[in-house]
Amino acid sequence: MIAHYGSCHCGAITLELRDEPVDAGECNCSLCRRNGALWHYSAPKQVTVTGDAVSYVQGDRMLTTWHCGICGDVTHWTSLGDPTYDRMGVNLRMFAPELWTGLPRRLIDGASF
Ligand SMILES: [Zn+2]
Repeated sequence: MIAHYGSCHCGAITLELRDEPVDAGECNCSLCRRNGALWHYSAPKQVTVTGDAVSYVQGDRMLTTWHCGICGDVTHWTSLGDPTYDRMGVNLRMFAPELWTGLPRRLIDGASF
């Protein structure tokens, strides 16, 4: 397994991904449609994040969205509250385009729930 390395624009937040994205999730919720993230869902144990990301919790959603406090890039999200939820989201746009430009897009209908 080859690890993939990404970072926010300024480099303060780094991401190491140890699984292989097969598609790129595009969510239409009020937050994601603004920040333009392309999501890959991963088990948290497959991802290492370094740096001091800033948290944002969208209304009553059960997840925390993280961004860089310096350059503002949205890097990932983590589950909030449910310790059995073994999933987090990684923003593929923080990685080299070769990793994700050719992936099929998967529409996530976050606006409906
Ligand atoms: Zn940054």
